[in-house]
Amino acid sequence: MAYDVSLLLQQGRIFQHGQLSEPMDIAIAGDTIRAIAPHLDLTAATTLPLAGQLVIPPFVESHIHLDSVLTAGQPRWNQSGTLFEGIEIWRERKQSLTVEDIQERAIAALKIQASQGVLFVRTHADVSDPTLTPLHGLLSVREAVKDWITVQVVAFPQDGIYSHPGTVERLEEAMKLGADVVGGIPHYELTREDGVRSVKYIFDLAETYDRLIDIHCDEIDDDQSRFLEVIAAEAIRRDMGDRVTASHTTAFGSYNNAYAFKLMGFLRRARINFVSNPLINLTLQGRMDTYPKRRGLTRVKELWQNGLNVSLGHDCIQDPWYCLGTGNLLDVALMAVHACQMTGHDELQACVQMVTENGARTLNLHHAYGIAEGQPANLVVLDAEDAIAALQHRATARHVISQGQPLVSTTPPQVTWQQVV
Ligand SMILES: [Zn+2]
Repeated sequence: MAYDVSLLLQQGRIFQHGQLSEPMDIAIAGDTIRAIAPHLDLTAATTLPLAGQLVIPPFVESHIHLDSVLTAGQPRWNQSGTLFEGIEIWRERKQSLTVEDIQERAIAALKIQASQGVLFVRTHADVSDPTLTPLHGLLSVREAVKDWITVQVVAFPQDGIYSHPGTVERLEEAMKLGADVVGGIPHYELTREDGVRSVKYIFDLAETYDRLIDIHCDEIDDDQSRFLEVIAAEAIRRDMGDRVTASHTTAFGSYNNAYAFKLMGFLRRARINFVSNPLINLTLQGRMDTYPKRRGLTRVKELWQNGLNVSLGHDCIQDPWYCLGTGNLLDVALMAVHACQMTGHDELQACVQMVTENGARTLNLHHAYGIAEGQPANLVVLDAEDAIAALQHRATARHVISQGQPLVSTTPPQVTWQQVV
């Protein structure tokens, strides 16, 4: 053997590509998976007997705002629970924003997520701030944590690109500073024309600097908010689909079916990625409805049925817009199961894939992700026998292996009966 096995996982069942394997041994040398077979007769520095527990590629957080995480209640709680009160509170909290403040909270949130099996994260950094404090903070976090978790940073113009002077320049500055992804928010530009123009500019910038695209798109209950078709058209014309993500697209849930059906055909051509954030959009959208009250989500099930890549994210963890959020992507998948009515057997499994492999596609991770010989050794052992049991019990991440090294392990809670019943 030409390598020393540093870590041997024995008899774990791998769930990947929608398939559950028989129990397998997985040999890791350094930061690479070297062998996977039913039985490996090897000695390793460290051996983890898994006894049939589930092994999955890491969870992928495909949409979070790490610049605002863990600020719920600062300087005051959101009493109405609405988007607009959240914006008011954030305007106050932003006054005391510093690079150090962002680093501290972002790394705390990343640790919460990593301890639950998340090893890849796409965060948005608000570039509407003239000092670019959130961007500087999150770019430094990306560097500080890179040995144990991979972070992508989106330059996100929260207030619109053309609605305030200086944002166009800051977005380009963000590319020069090394942001991975160009963001946008066309439905929040002053006019529809500005929104269309902003999408074209985002694509131009991404092409010029060879970056990915992730646009907050149609995150509103307005059935006339139709920037998704603009994104799809640009992606088709420029043949960039797999590098482009439309986040939220909640208005798609309000479109009439005739338009939605036509649009779905264009989306199949465009092959762009989608991110839905069911925790927050269920709570923020539909607020102006009486009854029947809309769920405020995009058409997750229908996109999945049409073969499009959909992943799921938190968006917020304990901030002025959403004071809950555990960082556990099984919670997010579970909410999608309910809100999108994906309770069929294959649909349940698909929701687990939406927080693992589909997230990896959204982040364009390609060969950096997945359990196979020769791949980087990033994987998670869950205290469950299959993907559905993982959802049923919100299975504990027993072991999180990052770049070949055990990063964090958790012992599931033990229940002890005090009486015989
Ligand atoms: Zn967002």
